[in-house]
Amino acid sequence: MARLSQADLATLNRTFDDRSPQELLQWAREIFGDRVAAMSSMQEAGNVICHMLSHIPVRMPVVFVDTGVLFQETLETRDRLMREYGLTIHTYKPALTMEEQTEKYGILYLSAEGQKQCCEMRKSEPLDAIRGQYDALIGSLRRADGGRRGVCPILAVDTRLNCLRINVLANFSNEQMDDYIAQNQVILNPLHKQGFSTIGCNRCTTPVLPGEPKRAGRWRHLGPWSVYCGINPTDMDPERAPAVDLPQDLIDRILGRSTDFMI
Ligand code: SF4
Repeated sequence: MARLSQADLATLNRTFDDRSPQELLQWAREIFGDRVAAMSSMQEAGNVICHMLSHIPVRMPVVFVDTGVLFQETLETRDRLMREYGLTIHTYKPALTMEEQTEKYGILYLSAEGQKQCCEMRKSEPLDAIRGQYDALIGSLRRADGGRRGVCPILAVDTRLNCLRINVLANFSNEQMDDYIAQNQVILNPLHKQGFSTIGCNRCTTPVLPGEPKRAGRWRHLGPWSVYCGINPTDMDPERAPAVDLPQDLIDRILGRSTDFMI
C-alpha cells in the first residue's frame, strides 16, 4: 500500500475542472473497474447521477443509507430508480432501530451534540460496512450549493472509508441541473415539489420558504450551527491534510503516471 494525499490530487483536480460529469464517470469506471460505486440519498443531484449511469455505457452499483426514519417518498424514489433505470442499489441500515436508539440514549436529535451522535450512528456508521469494498465512491456535492460545498474539489480523499470521493457534479451549475432534469425527465423525489429543497430524515427536515437558504430546512430546530451531518468528507474541517492508503499501481493509474517495467 502507498499513501495518496489530498495535495497529490491538486493537479488532477485542476485538469478535471474541464470535464463533464459523464466523462468523469467514464474515467472512474476505467480506473477503478468494479471497485467504484455511486452514493445517493435520493435527492435531486443523486438522481441526476443515477440517470447518467443508466444512459451511458458505464455500469456501477449505487449505495444508499436508509436511516430508518426517512420519508416514504424517499424509499419509493429508490424503488423507482431500481425498477425504471435498471440500477442495482444496495441499502445499508443502522444497527439500532430509532425506537431502540431512543430507549437507549433518549431523543438525540433535539440537541446539537445529540444530533452529531445520532447522525454518526444512523448515517455514517452504516457506511462503514463498505470500507474495503470500494476504492472510489461517486458523490453528488456541487459548488453551486454554496456554504462549505462552494469550494468542494472534484477528487477528495475519504480517510474514514479509505477511498477516493469523486464529485462528478462539482462544476454543474443550477442552470445545467435544471436543464438536464427537464430534458431527460429525471425521476425526482416528489418532496422537492412540496418545498423540500434538500431531503434527509423525517425528524430533521422541513420544507424551505421562498427566499430562505437552500439548507434552511435541515435541522431547523437546532439553529444555523448544525447544517451538515458529516457523511461527506468535504463537509468537514477544510484545514486537515488527509490521505488514504491504496495500492501503488492504482495510485499511478489515478495520477496518470506510466509504469516502468524492469526485466
Ligand atoms: S438527520 Fe436527524 S434523525 Fe437523521 S440521523 Fe441525523 S440527527 Fe438523526
